[in-house]
Amino acid sequence: MTYRIRAHHGMCFSFFQGKGYSGEFTDNMWEMKQKLDYNPVVTLLQETDDVCAHCPNNQEGICASMEKVADYDGQVLNLCGLEPGTMIRWKDFEKLVQDHILKAGRREEICGDCEWNRLCI
Ligand code: SF4
Repeated sequence: MTYRIRAHHGMCFSFFQGKGYSGEFTDNMWEMKQKLDYNPVVTLLQETDDVCAHCPNNQEGICASMEKVADYDGQVLNLCGLEPGTMIRWKDFEKLVQDHILKAGRREEICGDCEWNRLCI
């Protein structure tokens, strides 16, 4: 089983504590987190994914904040040296995000204007 993951969600999963846009959204986040723990291959995207599929901001496949979040995705991919469409084991991607963004102290320059920013410290 391969999952579709937009690149900036590689940061979101590191900080997820059960808060989100709706009950359906957070239930899906917990389920996705469990599935990703098995280290599946994921396809990295710069568009709506398996998280967005249960988000109230997903308007017929387009995020209501499309430009902002696509920019987050692009920055994450660039800093990790990856391209949209890359297929990679989840834990390998998670490590790239940790090493190149989170431990490097670069998260806030990417998504510091996100409404959930205060949770991600
Ligand atoms: S806000 Fe946009 S990018 Fe974030 S989960 Fe919802 S649809 Fe996806």
